[in-house]
Amino acid sequence: MDLQFYNTLRRRKEKFEPLKAGEAGIYTCGPTVYHYAHIGNMRTYIFEDVLVRSLKLFGYSVKHVMNITDVGHLTSDADTGEDKMEVGARREGKSAWDIAKFYTEAFLKDYKALNCRMPDVLCPATEYIKEMIALVKALEEKGFTYRTGDGIYFDTAKLPDYGKLAGKSHIEGIREGARVEANAEKRNPTDFSLWKFSMPEEKRQMEWESPWGKGFPGWHIECSAMAMKHLGETIDIHCGGEDAVAVHHTNEIAQSEAATGKPFSKYWMHGRFLIMGDLGKMSKSSGSFLTVQTLVEKGYAPLAYRYFCFTAHYRKQLEFTWESMEASSKALGTLRETAAKLAEELALKKATPKLDKGADYYRKFTDALADDLNMPQALAALWDTLRSPDISPAEKLGFALAADEVFGLDLDKAPAEEALSPELASLIEQRRQARKDKDFKRSDELRKELLEKGVLVEDTPKGVHWKIVKKTE
Ligand code: AMP
Ligand code: ZN
Repeated sequence: MDLQFYNTLRRRKEKFEPLKAGEAGIYTCGPTVYHYAHIGNMRTYIFEDVLVRSLKLFGYSVKHVMNITDVGHLTSDADTGEDKMEVGARREGKSAWDIAKFYTEAFLKDYKALNCRMPDVLCPATEYIKEMIALVKALEEKGFTYRTGDGIYFDTAKLPDYGKLAGKSHIEGIREGARVEANAEKRNPTDFSLWKFSMPEEKRQMEWESPWGKGFPGWHIECSAMAMKHLGETIDIHCGGEDAVAVHHTNEIAQSEAATGKPFSKYWMHGRFLIMGDLGKMSKSSGSFLTVQTLVEKGYAPLAYRYFCFTAHYRKQLEFTWESMEASSKALGTLRETAAKLAEELALKKATPKLDKGADYYRKFTDALADDLNMPQALAALWDTLRSPDISPAEKLGFALAADEVFGLDLDKAPAEEALSPELASLIEQRRQARKDKDFKRSDELRKELLEKGVLVEDTPKGVHWKIVKKTE
């Protein structure tokens, strides 16, 4: 079965044919580290992680590059407004560098908690200024740039197929809407900055010397320079959220292709947004949003959110509600319990899990992945297999564990294991110790305290088991 992906560039599903047989180079736009990443951002990273894991399952050797945007992302897509990093620094009274460090670490903590695999290369934009300047110079030499009072701009009128990713009508919409825009010095409304000058009144913390004057790179040039540096002038797959299509990725294509004369990326894949419905709009800039840590504080395991993301196809909008979060948490618990029971059953029989890649149920699972990463269908294949009366326990478990290479739900762990706060985990540990020390009074007290806090502890012949019985409000 061939892998097929929806390619935004051609607006259709296409067979995946990489540049080099058996290899896949992927660039995913990473976080702007001026604030915590919200669960909407995380939906996009989970979709990209599933892409990487699926390619690996299908035998590809994958090189995954993700950037960290730690400079140059302005508060407006129209090259006006402030650098988000400087906004973050002012908000918290810290240096922009400290803000970048703090939120990069916070992002990686959530990223890992969601079982997203670490990219092979994680590149902060501030470490690639030299490459960005070289790319702007190449564009200048080819006559694609011009200078205004606040920076060096890309002249989109010089590129006949500018805007091919978003489509003609979309670009015309931007042109119409941008007429009233502030930057009167731009030759065309779609033109964008490649290098911005530091303004004397601005007192920027992050700035560099360049052939055009002191300043900082435009957001789009960052991704082009880093993608090409690590993956070559043409890459296999470039991903991001749907909001990147019209401006960020459109401009990445324009400047990269103008500089090299080659296609920038063969495939472009975009995840639709997570929306909040009645819970209101999430916005990083306003500071009102849900993070993975908020979910944990409410008693939900990060992986329950990962499961929730699989309930919709990545190209469909997904609405977050607490009810669906609860349902996903329960479903994940049931999956893990089922896997644990199968493991117990096999252990009793001294049997081991068995993987039959030729079986129908395995094919249903890989067919779902191959069909543009259809995770709801892949999940259905898992449930159907586990429920089937005709499949042996050894095969069920063998399949569940193999499929978990893509699901990344830790199906081999006890139900809801990592949902515990450090405080609860410490109480369980203290109780374990009390029992070991035969201090049964203390052990009972701790058991009661844990139950009051919503954790039921049971002593079984196989050791201490616990489960969450009540969510904290
Ligand atoms: P940012 O940190 O703002 O640069 O965004 C990081 C990634 O999250 C980008 O790929 C965005 O397209 C994506 N993104 C932003 N908001 C949402 C959302 N509500 N749902 C899904 N992805 C999003
Ligand atoms: Zn990018």
